[in-house]
Amino acid sequence: MTTAIPIKLEGDIKITPENKCTYCRGATCCTYYTHHIDTPRSMEDFDLLLWQISHQNTQMYKDEDGWYLLINNPCRHLQPGGRCGIYETRPQICREHSNDGCEFEGPSGEEDFELFFRDYDSLLAHCRKKFKHWDRRFMGAGPPKARVPQAQA
Ligand code: SF4
Ligand code: SF4
Repeated sequence: MTTAIPIKLEGDIKITPENKCTYCRGATCCTYYTHHIDTPRSMEDFDLLLWQISHQNTQMYKDEDGWYLLINNPCRHLQPGGRCGIYETRPQICREHSNDGCEFEGPSGEEDFELFFRDYDSLLAHCRKKFKHWDRRFMGAGPPKARVPQAQA
């Protein structure tokens, strides 16, 4: 989603919804997927998100539809040149995908989202700003105390 796609049109070609994908060499729509997540509210929620975004190729954003994980891993069926290796049996979600306003016009940028976290550090900075005591969230709890046996009367 955040990857630039190398589109080069030669001559005076009119791009229409019908021919658009034919001229798209990057097929950026097949290089990532998103996963809707519950809106994080507590420090525990954000702590979990920090774990998730610590994984390679994982980013996060919030838009008008809510919060999403963005996993930047190309589909294993994507062929060189942007073709689908299982076109005839591709999943329904691929069949329903519209190329209206897709990445052909250009890669998505941070300005396209209400919030965008490209990595662990950017999410951590957000947590520190949102929660005054973020860096002290683990202090005080400590390991559970061992129970002291009561003296028998
Ligand atoms: S939907 Fe857009 S990004 Fe995907 S292959 Fe077609 S033109 Fe390219
Ligand atoms: S199955 Fe085909 S159309 Fe669907 S994401 Fe993979 S390469 Fe793209």
